[in-house]
Amino acid sequence: MKAETETKSREGTDEMAQTPNLDLSGSERAALIFEREKAAVVQTYTRQPIFLVRGSGARVWDASGREYIDFVAGIAVNNVGHCHPAVVGAIARQAKELIHTSNLYYTENQVSLAEELKALTGMDRAFFCNSGAESIEAALKLARRATGRSEIVAAVHSFHGRTLGSLGATYKAVYREPFRPLQEAKFVPFDDPEALAAAVSKETSAVVLEPVQGEGGVNVPSPGYLRAAREVCDDAGALLILDEVQTGFGRTGTWFGKEHSGVMPDVMALAKGIAGGLPMGAILVAQSVSDVFQRGDHGSTFGGGPLVSAAALASIGAIKDERLVERSEEMGAYLRARLAEEIDAIDVRGLGLMVGVELVASCPEIVNRARERGVLLNATSDHVLRMVPPLVVGKEEIDRVVKVLGEIQREP
Ligand SMILES: *Cc1c(COP(=O)(O)O)cnc(C)c1O
Repeated sequence: MKAETETKSREGTDEMAQTPNLDLSGSERAALIFEREKAAVVQTYTRQPIFLVRGSGARVWDASGREYIDFVAGIAVNNVGHCHPAVVGAIARQAKELIHTSNLYYTENQVSLAEELKALTGMDRAFFCNSGAESIEAALKLARRATGRSEIVAAVHSFHGRTLGSLGATYKAVYREPFRPLQEAKFVPFDDPEALAAAVSKETSAVVLEPVQGEGGVNVPSPGYLRAAREVCDDAGALLILDEVQTGFGRTGTWFGKEHSGVMPDVMALAKGIAGGLPMGAILVAQSVSDVFQRGDHGSTFGGGPLVSAAALASIGAIKDERLVERSEEMGAYLRARLAEEIDAIDVRGLGLMVGVELVASCPEIVNRARERGVLLNATSDHVLRMVPPLVVGKEEIDRVVKVLGEIQREP
């Protein structure tokens, strides 16, 4: 009986995986995917009810062939646009040569990428991992090793990831509470240098901050804030970790968010936009701490592998060739100006193409209505929309999104 059930379910799975269901309509295929997902995937996500099958530039398409302008970009990941030909080509070429070796051996792409990141940031060395949370884990471990201390100071409304270590520095209590005990940060109001100075002591291993808070609702600090944070850390002998997972790779109209303040951190955490859509994370360390991690102190089986490193090099190349950092600055200014003209907002804020729109209306509801009109948006809370389109986005696409938002606002 048991064996029979097993065979049956295995056959069922094979059938679903192999039959392209060509006679089903797009919406029927979508309904089937929603059902299969519910039965087979752990239910940690509140997903939008669309089934995406293709992307190009700042657009994606669902199974019915419906086109959407993508102002989410995989959550600030697809900076060079969906399926950028340079990234696709680099992945295809590298996949034929060598996909994975582990870090037991030398490979060239990892070294070339580390050199490229050094040149772009002025940092000293790179360590590669596979996600934003992992990059924060590495940074927190390094800070402990460097200082012999364990306390962390982070900001109210911060987001640094969901692993047991990074979760301790993530502000939202609902994310942390079910998983205590954690090593939890002292949280201080963002953009408040006095509160930061009061919280940092000789017990502090690191202060971890986003140059612009992302998940917290696109919060841009005052110009002097990161500089003040740098001084507070220096006075206490604590490390300054800048979490550039979301602000990196042109997102804020500069290569990295730190450039708006001119501050050099001890550790930079990177991920999201680093590899053209493939999963990768990294920390970059300043020269003063570049020998803190010794052989055996940290590691990752996949980190900085040849395939993902090829994608990252190609993506960085595309950002340079297409002047996407400058474009982020220009299009971001255009988007904010158009929103300010057309939308009745409490606040329109951001840097480059990292834009927050604070509204009186329910933003999750606006996200639903915009999707029905072919625009993908993300709400970071009930009253803030976050717009982080691919940096290749054009004025026509921006105009269309602003128009759709205006129409939604004028609806009863
Ligand atoms: C998304 C994000 C993370 C976590 O990245 P994952 O790849 O999801 O682990 C960490 N920090 C910031 C600022 C982020 O935006």
